Amino acid sequence: MNTIALDKEYIANTYARFNLEFVSGKGAIIKCTNGKEYIDMGTGIGVNIFGFCDQEWTNAVTKQLGEFQHCSNLYYSAPCANLAKMLCDATGLKKVFFANSGAEANECAIKVARQYSKEKYGDNRFKILTLKNSFHGRTITTLSATGQEVFHQKFLPLTEGFVYAEANNFESVEKATEKGDICAIMMEAVQGEGGVIPLEKEFVKKVSELANKKDILIIFDEVQTGNGRTGELYGYMNFNAKPDIITTAKGLGGGLPIGACIMGEKVSDVLGAGDHGSTFGGNPVASAGAISILSRLTPEFLSEVKEKSKLIFSTLSGAQGIKSVTGLGLMIGIETEKPASEVISACIDMGVIPLKAKNKVRLLPPLNIDNETLLKALDIIKKAVK
Ligand code: PLP
Repeated sequence: MNTIALDKEYIANTYARFNLEFVSGKGAIIKCTNGKEYIDMGTGIGVNIFGFCDQEWTNAVTKQLGEFQHCSNLYYSAPCANLAKMLCDATGLKKVFFANSGAEANECAIKVARQYSKEKYGDNRFKILTLKNSFHGRTITTLSATGQEVFHQKFLPLTEGFVYAEANNFESVEKATEKGDICAIMMEAVQGEGGVIPLEKEFVKKVSELANKKDILIIFDEVQTGNGRTGELYGYMNFNAKPDIITTAKGLGGGLPIGACIMGEKVSDVLGAGDHGSTFGGNPVASAGAISILSRLTPEFLSEVKEKSKLIFSTLSGAQGIKSVTGLGLMIGIETEKPASEVISACIDMGVIPLKAKNKVRLLPPLNIDNETLLKALDIIKKAVK
């Protein structure tokens, strides 16, 4: 049996896969079993931020593989300790819990927020406010955090204790906090799965002030927006916000599973021994790769990401067949006149692999994609939307 037949027979039906089987890649280019090469504008949903088989990342990972691959969290290991310091230095927060995915990083943030509030205010202030149209993961609790009913319906009852407010509508958030039972507000700087919709600066400012006044924790879910994706190291940095907790995953690992819940001053010592854990969390190989990724996300590199973003906006905005272009940095949503799925199929036929987010074509290219390859991909997208 070939791969596709095996997959259809033996893998759970949770993914509607495209008819493409990847073979090998370098940078932004992936070769498939059909003999064709494609420009990858999706990076495995924002993961391979330095493209395929980036040499520096590969060296870091293979060096650690040759030393030891795993040790459990019963012992110390340098890669995860060094990575934690880098994350704290970069964000000004204080301590890190390592997990293996975005959903798990969010689970940790939710536990931390509840525990902080319980210790300080007692039992009845455990609710977490999230935004409508948000996406926070697929576990039962992070589904519950996700502000889209479509993800909830089949899995009721979900974890209790989540309330939803309108994104970019401060009054809606303010109203939801009136009862005094909210311990944290969790948001994405740019709603990724929700259609690549950035929060507005004024909204974030007012929500931050309200949260500060009421001692409600601010959690930024940076799973998709983090690690340079929006042109800043973390998405909240576009807004001058001061989160108490940041969660990140995807691009941090550059291709290996890792998640991190980064905790600020107020909450850094909330979790004690035995309160949380993960067998693989802080795995030395994934951490070594993440160190190599983070160390390259310098201000100079991020200004190049912003330049590439401008190039995308100026090339696509107003083009025939395009209704709007939204997003920040290299996290782009394109609203097209034709259905997004049709545009994506046409792109694939012409050698470009984009993503979808709701009714939009979504681009999450490698952050180091060269301008020539980027322009080639944009040219194909412009043909596909017509
Ligand atoms: N949070 C956000 C904002 C995401 O975009 C995602 C995944 O797309 C998640 C959480 C879940 O991450 P994971 O699939 O690694 O669990």
